[in-house]
Amino acid sequence: MERFFLELEPPAAVMTSWPHVVVVGGGFAGLKVCHALARQPVRVTLIDKRNFNLFQPLLYQVASGLVSEADVASPLRQMVGDAPNIQILLGEVVAIDPEACQVVLNGQHLGYDQLILATGSGSTYFGREEWRSLAPPMKILEHADEIRRRLLMALEEAEQTRDPSQRAFLQTVVVVGAGPAGCELAGSLIELMQRAVQRDFKQLRRQDCRVVLVDPVDRVLPTMAPVLSEAAAAYLRAAGVDMRLGLKVEGIAPGRVCLSGAAGEIELEAATICWTAGVRASRLGRLLSDQTGCPIDRSGRLVVEPDFSVPGHPEIRAVGDLCSFAHTPNGSPLPGMAGPAVQAGEWVARDILARLRGQTIQPFRWLDLGSMAVIGPWYAVADLRGLHLTGLVGWVVWALAHLAFIPDTENRIALFSKWMWQIATRQRTALLITGRPDQHLGVDVGLFRAPRPTA
Ligand SMILES: Cc1cc2nc3c(=O)[nH]c(=O)nc-3n(C[C@H](O)[C@H](O)[C@H](O)COP(=O)(O)OP(=O)(O)OC[C@H]3O[C@@H](n4cnc5c(N)ncnc54)[C@H](O)[C@@H]3O)c2cc1C
Repeated sequence: MERFFLELEPPAAVMTSWPHVVVVGGGFAGLKVCHALARQPVRVTLIDKRNFNLFQPLLYQVASGLVSEADVASPLRQMVGDAPNIQILLGEVVAIDPEACQVVLNGQHLGYDQLILATGSGSTYFGREEWRSLAPPMKILEHADEIRRRLLMALEEAEQTRDPSQRAFLQTVVVVGAGPAGCELAGSLIELMQRAVQRDFKQLRRQDCRVVLVDPVDRVLPTMAPVLSEAAAAYLRAAGVDMRLGLKVEGIAPGRVCLSGAAGEIELEAATICWTAGVRASRLGRLLSDQTGCPIDRSGRLVVEPDFSVPGHPEIRAVGDLCSFAHTPNGSPLPGMAGPAVQAGEWVARDILARLRGQTIQPFRWLDLGSMAVIGPWYAVADLRGLHLTGLVGWVVWALAHLAFIPDTENRIALFSKWMWQIATRQRTALLITGRPDQHLGVDVGLFRAPRPTA
């Protein structure tokens, strides 16, 4: 069995006796595990299918052209590659053999003494996978790029369109999901469209820019205090976002979203449709559940023990969005947020090191730092364990918290300067249409767009 680093030279003699910890996923939780295990007496292999750590909370800023991809992503080798006891392998773990204590990536079997799964979550369309290409989610960098590309292409096409109703269609965006990600995206898109249209386009009218925010729940930010939901809704409404709450998505077709609610059915027409509604744990959850019998919840998360291990397999732990960890006496799971993922990652690393020393540590306790959402320039709402902040104060707390959380100093500086530049000038620097050959206006393939629905 492969029990050492996949390197040409065997590891330094002392390392050969150290236990091998394999960490799958270099997101919030996995990266924290690595930071805590760096330069400790363990051999760590970090496996990720991407070569970077992504700061998902700011994806909406990439989608709306406020910052660029590299501002919210940091190469993993830059983050932890210099630790002598950590090796990073690029690859997707496609299988786990709990009996042989091996994971499979790139056609190779890699043995472990301890396995930490931190593969996060993806988006779900609740069984309607055919909606995915029509309404891209916002989970990875490419999704944010695609949303930006679709929106900017629609505005470019609107600028060349003579038919006013077609122009209005091209200037309409529907955002499905009024949680933090949906509200942040809607607020940022309406601001982008109105500013860009007013200043940079000659034919488009600001009042035709329309962002529609849709959710089956009757208030935005439903996990926050009602007073914050009201404040966020009031801000979004004043900014021009059309709120369609209490309405469920029944169907999505090219350029069309069908909704139903107490008042009946509604159809919306929009050139750009985005999906921020459903979250589903990474498929390694189900895979491991099938092999070990570990229960999974409705979102596909592994229901783990108090030390984040999989029942019957103390050597396998799951942390972050992949796990369902009961943190209250009535069994409420930790929320799928960055804070719990980071704290769990650090606790598991400390627990592994303590056990190696024959010690135990205090049980895991989540320190709830609260939640927040930025709705517009200088405007955020924050729910800090009962302390409710809105407006500029909320924005300052939001900005400081996010800058503190960003794992890379260079990105911290870049983001701060771009936010300040945008607030001072209302200009966005990352409004590039990139990604696919069909984007080149008038070159080879010209404009491509799914046809507007006919009544
Ligand atoms: C748009 C958006 C906005 C958000 N905003 C906030 C916010 O404001 N505040 C907040 O607290 N939380 C927010 N979240 C949630 C937060 O980002 C997640 O809870 C957090 O990322 C979970 O961390 P994780 O380490 O479990 O997974 P992730 O950070 O998602 O990392 C998972 C890693 O595993 C890798 N991976 C996946 N499968 C495999 C495989 N099979 N093999 C190898 N590697 C694999 C991925 O490439 C990725 O690097 C937001 C999420 C999104 C999508």
